[in-house]
Amino acid sequence: MTKIRLFTPGPTGVPEEVLLEMARPIFHHRTGQYRDFLKQLTQGLQYVFRTNNEVLTFTGSGTSAMEAGIVCCLAPGAKALVVRGGKFGQRWAEVCTAYGLDHINIDVEWSRAVDPAVIEKALADDPAIKAVIVTHSETSTGVRSDVEAIGKIVAPTEALFMVDCITSAAAIPLEVDKWSIDVAATGSQKALMLPPGLAFLAVSPKAWKIAKSFQPKAYYLDIKRYRKSLKTWDNPYTPAITLVRGLAKALEMIKAEGLENIWARTAKIAQATRQAALAMGLKLFAADPVDSLTSICYPQGVDDKQFRSLLREKFGIWVAGGQADLSGKIFRISHMGYVDALDAVSVIAAIEQALNACGHKVIPGTGTGKALEILAS
Ligand SMILES: *Cc1c(COP(=O)(O)O)cnc(C)c1O
Repeated sequence: MTKIRLFTPGPTGVPEEVLLEMARPIFHHRTGQYRDFLKQLTQGLQYVFRTNNEVLTFTGSGTSAMEAGIVCCLAPGAKALVVRGGKFGQRWAEVCTAYGLDHINIDVEWSRAVDPAVIEKALADDPAIKAVIVTHSETSTGVRSDVEAIGKIVAPTEALFMVDCITSAAAIPLEVDKWSIDVAATGSQKALMLPPGLAFLAVSPKAWKIAKSFQPKAYYLDIKRYRKSLKTWDNPYTPAITLVRGLAKALEMIKAEGLENIWARTAKIAQATRQAALAMGLKLFAADPVDSLTSICYPQGVDDKQFRSLLREKFGIWVAGGQADLSGKIFRISHMGYVDALDAVSVIAAIEQALNACGHKVIPGTGTGKALEILAS
């Protein structure tokens, strides 16, 4: 027997309470029952994002919300500044290209966060820049950007601040209003403890002003249609009712634990994992690490495919490999959502054994001992 234990940075494990809620019968969405759900969960999402801005719900994966923000908030003739420090930063530049939107890329070494001063200079040098696009938690590398510092730079300018919060919301400190984030996106299958299929976008008054000024090249993703429906707690199109039901339950669990407590739990598990990796003689990939996940370099001689299939087959543990240039070089462990201290220790215990089987010798208990020491402190 193998239990499935998902520690991939999306999708993540879903609590039984949420699964059971989603097993309940479908009801119709043009009803008071649905409107009550949407009202309640929109307020819950505002709690998660720490915002008073309107939060729109899309049926789609995280990319759909981010794409909606980009295509609806970059007016014709505007230029975007895109930080590319990994796969997801690259994706936002590709979205701009797909819609023919003018953009400049800031390329950042994949293990590091962007220097906010570079953004400040780019904005000062080119007044045509009307949006700054940043990935808060770059899931492909495990790097955290200093969104608070960048927000201070962008806020006094005409430019909108658009942030991919897909693996930061409900995992690490995120303050949409305090940090002046105009467009914040997240998805259901990361720290929100749901299956894939929903995406959310918080839009500020500054961004609405731009969005209202032109007709975007979008229909399904036109955010103005979602805003209009939201006034009566409706969705413009058939929503993913099952997932919406699950979300209401997940938000209830998030509120019961408290956002700050969730941030603290995630940070502690991340710290224990990083220290355990170092104790096992491994190197961490990210110089500016995010607490949502940990990216670890393979030691010499350990094969990615063999290592990860051992974890899966012997322990039911799923971690992610590296993407693009990092394929075969790193593996990534999620700390988001439905993960507790003992889960974290069990991943490390399995890693110890898999490393030994793959030729990197570790005395049993080295990593787990370190992790337990930190988790108990
Ligand atoms: C998961 C993820 C996305 C969205 O990917 P989807 O597959 O569209 O949900 C975007 N950005 C980051 C940083 C992510 O981790």
